[in-house]
Amino acid sequence: MPELPEVEVVRTGLASLLLGRKVQSVTAFRADLRYPLPDFSPLFEQKIHAIRRRSKYLLFDFTGDTERGEFEAQTLVWHLGMTGQFHVLPKATSAGAHEHVRFDFDDGSSLRYRDARRFGYAGLMATNDWEKHAWFKRLGPEPLFDEFDVACLLAHCHGRKAPIKTLIMDAHVVVGVGNIYAAESLFLAGIHPARAAGRISKQRLQALVDAIKVTLAAAIQAGGSSISDFVQVDGKPGYFAHNFHVYGREGEDCTHCDAKIRRIIQAGRSSFYCPMCQH
Ligand SMILES: [Zn+2]
Repeated sequence: MPELPEVEVVRTGLASLLLGRKVQSVTAFRADLRYPLPDFSPLFEQKIHAIRRRSKYLLFDFTGDTERGEFEAQTLVWHLGMTGQFHVLPKATSAGAHEHVRFDFDDGSSLRYRDARRFGYAGLMATNDWEKHAWFKRLGPEPLFDEFDVACLLAHCHGRKAPIKTLIMDAHVVVGVGNIYAAESLFLAGIHPARAAGRISKQRLQALVDAIKVTLAAAIQAGGSSISDFVQVDGKPGYFAHNFHVYGREGEDCTHCDAKIRRIIQAGRSSFYCPMCQH
């Protein structure tokens, strides 16, 4: 499943190719993916003027002015689900496997959405209102923004017996910290994944905030990937981040000490940690 770094890499790639493109037509080859697809007709003859990301959603902002008169600016929101991929290709390129939606642009290019398992979904909403939508209104802060800081994390941890790993993977606390990035961040901060959130000092939570930011930023920089079949916007395979400290390394040597990495199950997910470095 694409995690926040992969979605950010897709966003950057799409923005480099699609800004300023005007929609000539949108074709949906089926009525639904995970949910029914929106009516794309309001996008006709509108230009993409920004592509943003919130959590793991891509937001395509369209201009509101068209030859048909003034329209309220629309934002197309897209979640890639498990296997969703965008490709930017010449219009003449025939449809690939599992291609469900295509956008044709005025410059001869087209944006194709492919999704083998069809867990992806999309919505069209007024640009002024997107944050009020049910998908967004209860989300916590973006991990790479300044709004996610130790005061914010401390407020969520106060008095909580829940394991710290469960807490940082909760999208109401902070978005985009998936299983891999939670494990790696806790290792860097020296915090055991099962430690009760309310029993961690402010100083150590500060180290965790820093570790989450460093881990996610490094994954984005590496072209971030957590799945082998993740494909970037230009069709090239994403990089698999090989240099994990703990994730997927049960029984292997710790990168910082002589201990072996251990695995436990928390909330149905594997947690990897070093019994010497993390407490
Ligand atoms: Zn260690």
